[in-house]
Order: sequence, then structure tokens, then C-alpha cells
Amino acid sequence: MSITSRSHTPSPDVLAAFEAAKGFMPRGEGLALYGAAVDAGALGLPLLEVGTYCGRSTVLLADAARTAGVTALTVDHHRGSEEQQPGWDFHDPETVDPAVGFMDTLPTFRRTLHAAGLEDHVVALVGKSPRVAKVWGGPLGLVFIDGGHTDEHANADYEGWAPHVADGGYLVIHDVFPVKHDEWTGQAPYRVYQRALASGAFTEVSECDSLRVLRRSGAGI
Ligand code: SAH
Ligand code: MG
Repeated sequence: MSITSRSHTPSPDVLAAFEAAKGFMPRGEGLALYGAAVDAGALGLPLLEVGTYCGRSTVLLADAARTAGVTALTVDHHRGSEEQQPGWDFHDPETVDPAVGFMDTLPTFRRTLHAAGLEDHVVALVGKSPRVAKVWGGPLGLVFIDGGHTDEHANADYEGWAPHVADGGYLVIHDVFPVKHDEWTGQAPYRVYQRALASGAFTEVSECDSLRVLRRSGAGI
């Protein structure tokens, strides 16, 4: 089945749940992600996110999955990225589990999904992205890369997950900054975006601020 381009918008309830969720996905980019996810859902394959955090973007992927009749998958070790650790710019003390003294965003993520009424449409995969990718065997309609921002993490996300994007499916990358943005966001996602285009396996479909939507149109990655 081929994907056609339409415009899609989540329901007011889903948008309210998205706005209420903790996280790092601005509304405009979230709507662009949602549109790509509904289109990709037409392939009838799961939609996968790397970088759940507290479920803000997951709410949109889950609603898109519900609309398309597929499942959303979301991968995170839930211990936070480098820049989210105590003492760093993006740290939120509420995300620390006092019993273990480390971040644990899994409980907040579950509350977010529950509040959105979308628990049935999501499978959460808790672990390091490359480890999960290694045991993942099936094709995916969409891969959304929004995990760690170091070159090591961004490249591992690309290498682990991009090969699973089905022909005609989408690769969506967040935090793509062609010009250096800030110390922590860095430019690793931009370099991965360039890598995906240079592979010849992906062509660009659209962009919205720092979000890039690519479509798989070739075999070699
Ligand atoms: N999509 C979220 C933001 C994700 S923040 C939103 O809409 O708000 C990035 C997340 O990636 C963090 O929760 C961090 O724990 C996770 N992460 C970073 N590196 C990872 C890795 N190697 N494997 C799994 N998760 C990782
Ligand atoms: Mg991001």
C-alpha cells in the first residue's frame, strides 16, 4: 500500500493530554509528527519512538496508531539523557526516584498515557535503545528518533532502527539543528539526518522547525 499525504489533527482531548504532559516536544512539531504517523500507519505496521521520557510525544504517536489501527512502540531506559541528570540544564527533580537515587521517568510516562486514555495502543520497551533494536525483528511503518543527543547515541539509534523502516515507511528525526543550537542539544541529530539522506535509502518529505520527516525509498542503509 502506498502512503498518501493528507492533513490530520488529533482530537481536542488528545491535544489537551499532550499539552499537560511533561516533556520536550513543542506543539507545532508534535502536530507534524502526528500527521506523519497517521500517514505511516496506512502501511499497517507498528510506529516506534526512541525517547519516551514522560510520554509527551508518545501521546501523539499512540493516537495516530489508534486512528490507523496499529500499535505504537516506545523505547527508553527511563534513566534520562546526559543533559537531564541532576545539576544539568534540563533536569527535573520530580523525575528522580528517591528509593534508588536515579531518574525514573517510567511512572510519569504511565500516568501520562493513562490520563490520555491511550494505554491500550502503546507497548513500552524499557531498555537501552541498541539492545532493544538488536532483538527487534519486524518491519516498522515509522521510526521516530528522539533519544540521546550524543553522536554515539544518535548513531546507534539510526543504525539499530533505520534498517527496520519498511519500504515507503517514515524516518522522523527530532532536534535537527543545521546551525549549533546549544551545548546540549548539539548537532548529532543533524548529522544523523544527513547520514540518512546520504545513504540513498531515504528522501525528505517535510520539515517543521527541528523535526525532519524522511521516507524510505531504497534498500541500502
Ligand atoms: N520524546 C520525549 C523527549 C525524549 S528526551 C518528549 O516528547 O518529551 C530523550 C529520552 O531519551 C530520555 O528519556 C532518555 O532516557 C532517553 N534515552 C537517551 N539515550 C537512550 C538510550 N541509549 N536508550 C534508551 N533511551 C535513551
Ligand atoms: Mg527532542
